[in-house]
Amino acid sequence: MLKTIPSKLPDVGSTIFSEMSALALECQAINLGQGFPDYPPSEVLIQAVSNAMLQGHNQYAPMAGLPALREAIASKVQTQHGRSYSVNSEITVTSGASEALMSSLLALAHPGDEVLLIDPAYDLYEPSIRLAGARAVRVPMRPPQENDPAFCIDWNRIEAALTDKTRMLVLNFPHNPTGLTLKSEDLDALETLISKHPILLLSDEAYEHIVFDGQAHLSPVSRPLLAEHTVLISSFGKTFHATGWKVGYCCAPAAVMTEIRKVHQFTVFSVSTPMQAGIAQYLRTADALSGLSGFYQKKRDRLLAGLKETVLRPLRAEGTFFLLVDTAALGDGLEKELALRLTRDVGVASIPVSAFYGDPNHPEANHQLLRLCFAKLDTTLDQALERLQGLENRLAG
Ligand code: PMP
Ligand code: GLN
Repeated sequence: MLKTIPSKLPDVGSTIFSEMSALALECQAINLGQGFPDYPPSEVLIQAVSNAMLQGHNQYAPMAGLPALREAIASKVQTQHGRSYSVNSEITVTSGASEALMSSLLALAHPGDEVLLIDPAYDLYEPSIRLAGARAVRVPMRPPQENDPAFCIDWNRIEAALTDKTRMLVLNFPHNPTGLTLKSEDLDALETLISKHPILLLSDEAYEHIVFDGQAHLSPVSRPLLAEHTVLISSFGKTFHATGWKVGYCCAPAAVMTEIRKVHQFTVFSVSTPMQAGIAQYLRTADALSGLSGFYQKKRDRLLAGLKETVLRPLRAEGTFFLLVDTAALGDGLEKELALRLTRDVGVASIPVSAFYGDPNHPEANHQLLRLCFAKLDTTLDQALERLQGLENRLAG
C-alpha cells in the first residue's frame, strides 16, 4: 500500500473561482464571479494564430519566447513606461501571469524569507510563497469607512512589516479585487521604502490596460530606481479577451531574469508557439491595445447605473473588470454565505472579497462586500441586473 504522502498545502482546496463557477453552472446562475469575458477575442487575432499554425509555427519556441513577441513586448513596455528591457536577457514569455508569478517566487524567495502581501490579495500568491519555502506576511489595506468608502493602501503599515528577512513585496495594480490603481504618491512612497530597504518588488499588472476616467496605468517600472528592483508581470488574457490562452510575460533586470528562467525552463520550457506568433503579429496593429479601457468603462457604467435600482451599493472602481458592492442592506454574516445564497436564490454568482484574505472566516476579512465581474455582454449584465432588483425579497432564510 502507498505510504501516506504529507500535503505541502494541507489547508488549500479548490479556488473560490472554480467553486463559484461550478455552483453557477449547477444553479444556472449568471456568472459574475470568476473573471472571464463571455465574448470572444478579435477575429483578426484568432486569424493571426490560425495562420501561424498553417504557416508551420508548430514546434518548440525558444525557451524565453519567440523573439518577435519579446520584441513586441519590449516596444510596448517602452512606450507605456519609458523603460527599455533587453529582448535577449530581460524578457520572458510565460504560460500566463500565473506561471510568471510562480516561477518568480520559486526562483527568488528562499526558505526563511518573508514575502509581503497586501490584503486583499489574489489567491495564488500565498501558496506559491509557501511552496518556495518562504513565509507570507499579510498586511491589510485600510478597509472602506463610512466617510471614505474605498480601500486604501497603508504604506506606513507596510514599512512597519519589513524585517531583515523580507525578500520581496508583491504588488498588484490595477488591483484585483478592489479595482484600485497606483497613483504618483504611491510610487513616491515606494521609492522612499526601496531606498531604505532594497527589497524586490513583484508587480502583477495583469489588468494594466483597463483603467478608467482618463487615468494612465502607473507601473513601478516607470521610475528608474523602482525598475531596478521590479519583476513586471502581465498577461494577454484580459487584454485580448482570451483568458484561456494562458500567455503572459515577465520583465526584470538581467541578473534577476537569469534566475526566473532557470525555473521557467524546467516547468513549461516554452509557451505555445502559434499563440506567441499570432499575438506578436497582432501587437503590430496600432489599435490592438487602445480602446480597451473605454470598452470596459462603458460596461462599468452600465453596471453602476443598473445597481441604482438595487439595494447593493457600489464602491469606486478605477480599473480592472471588477466592481465591489456593499451588501450591508442584506444584514451581516459571512460574505461567502451571502455569495452562495445569491447564486442559489437569486441566480447571480459573485465572489466574496473575504476569499482574498488569509482566513476568509475572520471578522476582519468580512466587510460585507462582494465582487462582480463586468467583463460580460451588455445583455448578460442587463439580465443579471434584472435578477438583482428586489433580491432582498428572494433571498431565502
Ligand atoms: N494575477 C491576477 C491579479 C489575476 O486576476 C489573474 C487571473 N486573471 C492572474 C494573475 C492570472 O493570470 P493568467 O490567467 O494570465 O495566468
Ligand atoms: N483571475 C480570475 C479572477 O480573479 C480567476 C482566474 C482563476 O480562476 N484562477 O476571477
